[in-house]
Amino acid sequence: MSVTDPVENLQALIRCPSVTPEEGGALTALEAMLAPLGFAVERMTASGDGTPDVENLYARLGADGPHLMFAGHTDVVPPGDAASWSHPPFAAEIENGLLYGRGAVDMKGGIACFVAALARFIGDNGKPTGSVSLLITGDEEGPGMNGTDKLLQWAKARGERWDAALVGEPTNPDALGDMIKVGRRGSLTGRLTVTGVQGHVAYPHLADNPLRTMAGALDALMGKPLDEGTDLFPPTNLEVTSVDTGNSATNVIPEKATATFNIRFNDLWTEETLKAELLDRIGRAARTGGKNTTRFTVEWLGRVSPVFLTRDEQLAGSLSEAIAAVTGRTPQLSTTGGTSDARFIKDYCPVVEFGLVGQTMHKVDERVAVADLEKLTEIYRHFIGRWFALAAAC
Ligand SMILES: [Zn+2]
Repeated sequence: MSVTDPVENLQALIRCPSVTPEEGGALTALEAMLAPLGFAVERMTASGDGTPDVENLYARLGADGPHLMFAGHTDVVPPGDAASWSHPPFAAEIENGLLYGRGAVDMKGGIACFVAALARFIGDNGKPTGSVSLLITGDEEGPGMNGTDKLLQWAKARGERWDAALVGEPTNPDALGDMIKVGRRGSLTGRLTVTGVQGHVAYPHLADNPLRTMAGALDALMGKPLDEGTDLFPPTNLEVTSVDTGNSATNVIPEKATATFNIRFNDLWTEETLKAELLDRIGRAARTGGKNTTRFTVEWLGRVSPVFLTRDEQLAGSLSEAIAAVTGRTPQLSTTGGTSDARFIKDYCPVVEFGLVGQTMHKVDERVAVADLEKLTEIYRHFIGRWFALAAAC
């Protein structure tokens, strides 16, 4: 097997059925590719938080700085009904220039290309002046409790430090070179409960309908825009996702009403300023809309995903140049989409994301153009060269 060929690398990885939380042989296959290149490869099993144990991998080439990290995951989502696939989901068959298999684009393909790129770079130039590491988790598509977050903590405790990171998730909407992700919006979820006084609809003076205040509060939350967006972020957006009284009777004024809502927010806000603004809007609505018996509470649900933005010219610039050199296109710098493991890495070093075209991820017949694998390998090879050249210059 020639590690410089991204197609062979990807076929070897897809043939390991590594549906979260199963390792499926995928990390062992990756280790077999990295060890001959000179990497020191370590496996780290994370456990706890009531979720299954997960195997992760950390591999480093070199001992000195500057230190470039490539991050990703070998776990994949389940294939669903394998009979619906035109090629078996773990066979990695190629037809008409397309390689089929679960994980082809999300994101064994990105890993296969990065390994091939490194092997080509080392073949041409020798080892980079500095260090390259791969931080690969088996828990990105699952609960995400025993993956990148714990792997980073584990590596940091052993003295690992990084200067920049590239995540190989599929970031291009339509064609290779469309988009680099340089940040993500934050996400906050709340539940508003308004309490009044239950009663007969014919005797409203003896009751206090919480929906009167709820209607005003929902209007206050959704009505006035929170902001107008920034150069790299769309406007902050709030969506109410449910409103409920649990009341099945038509002649009863309910005692309580609840509503849940989610906000995707940009870097004009922090978790604290956003919560304060929302509580202020709800409080005003409650004071003007309800009776003096109306009460409200707000609970914040789940883990808040913080907003982040990477402004690092050496990292985003060398990646953009590499993309332009190979595809002739100028990628858009974007912060769209859901959360990714970059949200953990940003606490350790600047991080950007660039990988394959995402159209078929998580779908039946997930597939990648063989030509794109070759192009992405060349983009990564150019990027590695440019990033280390710039790092040496400063
Ligand atoms: Zn992914």
